[in-house]
Amino acid sequence: RVRTRFAPSPTGFLHVGAFRTALFSYLLAKKYDGDFLLRIEDTDQKRLVKGSLEHIIQSLHALGTPYDEGPDQAAVAALSEAYGAVDPALVPENGGAHGPYIQSQRRARYTELVEQLLDDGKAYWAFETEEELAAKKAACDARKIPYRYDRHFRDYPLAEARKRVADGERAVVRLKMPTEGPIRTVDFLRGETLWDATTQDDFVILKADGLPVYHLAAMVDDHDMEISHILRGEEWISSTPKHVSVFQALGWEAPIFVHTPNVLGWDRKKLSKRNGALPLIGPVPEIKDGGLTGEFLTGYLNQDGILPEALFNFLAICGWSPGDDRELMPRDEIIAAFDLRHISLSPGIFDLDKLKWMNGVYIRNLSPSAFYERARPFLPAELDADYAAAAIALEQERVKELREVPEVTDFFFVELPEYNAKSVEKWLKGAGAYLAELDSTLAGLPEWSVAAIETVVRSVAASHNREKGEVTHPVRVALTGREVGPGLFELMEVLGKERLARRFKKAKE
Ligand code: GLU
Repeated sequence: RVRTRFAPSPTGFLHVGAFRTALFSYLLAKKYDGDFLLRIEDTDQKRLVKGSLEHIIQSLHALGTPYDEGPDQAAVAALSEAYGAVDPALVPENGGAHGPYIQSQRRARYTELVEQLLDDGKAYWAFETEEELAAKKAACDARKIPYRYDRHFRDYPLAEARKRVADGERAVVRLKMPTEGPIRTVDFLRGETLWDATTQDDFVILKADGLPVYHLAAMVDDHDMEISHILRGEEWISSTPKHVSVFQALGWEAPIFVHTPNVLGWDRKKLSKRNGALPLIGPVPEIKDGGLTGEFLTGYLNQDGILPEALFNFLAICGWSPGDDRELMPRDEIIAAFDLRHISLSPGIFDLDKLKWMNGVYIRNLSPSAFYERARPFLPAELDADYAAAAIALEQERVKELREVPEVTDFFFVELPEYNAKSVEKWLKGAGAYLAELDSTLAGLPEWSVAAIETVVRSVAASHNREKGEVTHPVRVALTGREVGPGLFELMEVLGKERLARRFKKAKE
């Protein structure tokens, strides 16, 4: 059974790049009717950021990639004090059969396995203090040789080590790595790599505070949670020899490793907030080097008004392709076409212009009522629904992000438009008689339709000997305060007789 996982650390507010890899995991699971898991890797408690757990879960929901197994209501409630509350509506009542899914709630399991590794002679306690280790490293640096732990305690008698630990001495547990021969790893996309054992360290698996490191905890969990494919960023490639060694030491078979290409910003540089690395849901505080910067980052989905289905589509083709040149693909088509072999080895580019273009296409394809539903959170709260829907429908063809909607349609929702001096001078001056006649003719118009309105405007303009450009511009400025906007006759129809009358009145003043 295909089982994949997204395994973020709640140490900050994740941005769109992280969700690309999560999406690949989701797609693989859905393609094979498998399970997509969320696991929270919080063994580094010092770096916890309150609110980030909820933000992860919220973002997965918003993108349309909720987890099948993962933290449940009881699990997140137990952590709410340190981690912040998580909306229970986003969290399943029962997280699944392989829990707990939060590493800090799995300590007993890691300790049990560390004990087992110690008993089996596959790991050992090491008692160097930080200063001693720093001195060892300095000695290597002085000789210009790469630092590697000297394995001083590798053969230290276990009984004695246990006694020292029981007496309260600080110690870490290290894994006995092979000392010779190659360590073989296989990446699904890149094939086999043989790593020279002499380049590998007996790395720490259990820290002095009793918590495991990623290299141990994640592999134990991937095993216990029956993960079939580990999809993760390519920055983990060089750690894979450690990970296969953990699996070997525990006598387990490793899952398939799939290291996904990075996502780069639109300038092809490392993704940062300047070139695309913004969250899905914002605003969230920006955190750098563990501290708040005082800045807030905006969210693509809820603030810019990217549609989740557009972001889903866009992220799916950010480093993956269906094997042909299709780009616009709805969710089901992507799932059906998803194939690990078509994950690219070169980085995906977070091309914002492409995302906006794609979003514009998805917006155009919405029914007018669906468009209204999506745009509503971006509009002022108290609006007449039918009027607002008709008004914004006139811009549906053009907007690329929903956040543009209020701006390009705001003249519909004001009591009277504002005029700027330049357009008054250019278009309203000398148009009084024309506008007055239009006003009274339209007021008596029996049939209210775009065609009827257009006929009136054209015939009144003709009787006033207006030149081509002078027909619509004065009317548009009078009614909207703007020189550009949606089709004039359409917007007049939507504004309706009463609003037109009020606005003509103001224009004539
Ligand atoms: N907690 C790790 C991270 O956030 C997960 C890496 C993985 O997917 O295994 O980078």
